[in-house]
Amino acid sequence: MHKLAQLDHAHVWHPFTQMRDWLRREPIVIVGGQGAVLRDVKGREFFDANSSIWTNLHGHRHPKINAAIARQLKKIAHSSALGFANEPASLLAERLVAVANCQLPIANLTKASRRQPNWKLQIGNCKLNKVFFSDDGSTALEVALNLAYEFSRRTRGNKLPPKFLSLGGAYHGDTIGAVSLGHVDLFHKAYGGMLFKTDQVMSPFCYRCPFNRAKPERADAREYRKCDWECVGLVEKKFSAQKKKGNPFAAFVFEPLMQGAAGMIPQPSGWLRQVTDIAREHGALLIADEVMTGFGRTGAAKAESGKRKVETLFASHHEKVQPDFLCVAKGLTGGYLPMAATLTTQKVFDAFLGEYAEFKTFFHGHSFTGNQLGAAAALASLDILRTEKSARQRAQLQKYLHDELQALWPLPNIGDVRQVGLVAGVELVKNWRTRKPFALAERAGIRVCEAMARRGVLTRPVGNVIVLMPPYCTTPAQLRKMVSALREAVAETFPANAHG
Ligand code: PMP
Repeated sequence: MHKLAQLDHAHVWHPFTQMRDWLRREPIVIVGGQGAVLRDVKGREFFDANSSIWTNLHGHRHPKINAAIARQLKKIAHSSALGFANEPASLLAERLVAVANCQLPIANLTKASRRQPNWKLQIGNCKLNKVFFSDDGSTALEVALNLAYEFSRRTRGNKLPPKFLSLGGAYHGDTIGAVSLGHVDLFHKAYGGMLFKTDQVMSPFCYRCPFNRAKPERADAREYRKCDWECVGLVEKKFSAQKKKGNPFAAFVFEPLMQGAAGMIPQPSGWLRQVTDIAREHGALLIADEVMTGFGRTGAAKAESGKRKVETLFASHHEKVQPDFLCVAKGLTGGYLPMAATLTTQKVFDAFLGEYAEFKTFFHGHSFTGNQLGAAAALASLDILRTEKSARQRAQLQKYLHDELQALWPLPNIGDVRQVGLVAGVELVKNWRTRKPFALAERAGIRVCEAMARRGVLTRPVGNVIVLMPPYCTTPAQLRKMVSALREAVAETFPANAHG
């Protein structure tokens, strides 16, 4: 075993990992990367098929991000946001506000808009104006949760504690507040005693929806579903029931367009718009967790203003939803450095203003809040995203991904292939006709990913769902290899059914 692997085995405790399994085999030790490729200590190359757990946007060692970090290093790496402002964080906050409100055209899609780069696009009437920096997705959600809680307590007549509604199976992070907001049974069993209670409503999972009367087909279940939008009806019911208790939900928390760690669950078109309208009618704040979906991951969304169109980077905008809280992390720095942000409105901000002795301050923050290297990387990443080249590259990759994924349908152990933009989830089942799932203990997803790794493609499953989330720089040939490795790995893992 390589010396570095030995050291890892001796001392490193890996996240979300059964360490007994980990210690049984030599780990892949990554020492380098270029574009969509990772290189290990033995000189082997692998495709980074999940963009290093959904973080990397433009590929590894992107010259522009590398240069931006190097430039910043020549000035300073870090100074505290407790007491001081800093250059890149100020610039980044301004830029984030602009892109979050679609005021900054991202690779203009029409000649008209190119001539008028400063026109404003209105999405709803909810302007995101303030940025609270933190370090990872969990803390971005923790910040939104704390702000929404305190804002509601201060602005509502009601003395009852503010209540939150989120989606079944939701994962919003692993800190205590974020776990409470989520509904992952495993975590709730483990940490139940430490959590606070939040309510949940069925997520719109067409493939496994009890209201979907359609028989399984070899197509995305959203396309052939037969239902009467019962999932939306359930959201309405939840809000009405909570209102009757005299304490309407303070906030509705959701991942827009696709729930990630819940199992790559895509929402049928129109769901988000309908349920957020219901939430708004009931006076709830909207908290959008765009930790996975942000920065172009869910594909090109054209936000419209009259005849002019502009590409937006956020999934919520695909359905013209502007949240009160927009939580971003993972891809914020292009996947380079741990940095997150929670954007919110002036109205929320104002509720925390007061005389010092009133202690209305938002008592929250971290040592690395507004880190200068992270902010410099994020500015460079946003610069890249704004180029026409990047927009074109992402649109093409989305199409290639769609085309390549079609090759998976003939496999009987593939039940569902779901894609939203540049994210794909491939659900393994015992038999596609029955949709019968593998028990988690069978480790179906893990075994398939191990077989993919033997073919030089690295990704990590979410239960029985294999995730493909390539960096935006992935070439068609690289993408084809990723998908064929997945196809071969499924056939190898379930040989009896390979041709059945
Ligand atoms: N929200 C979502 C939607 C996520 O996918 C994740 C991470 N998978 C988180 C929050 C938590 O982010 P982090 O791991 O950076 O704390």
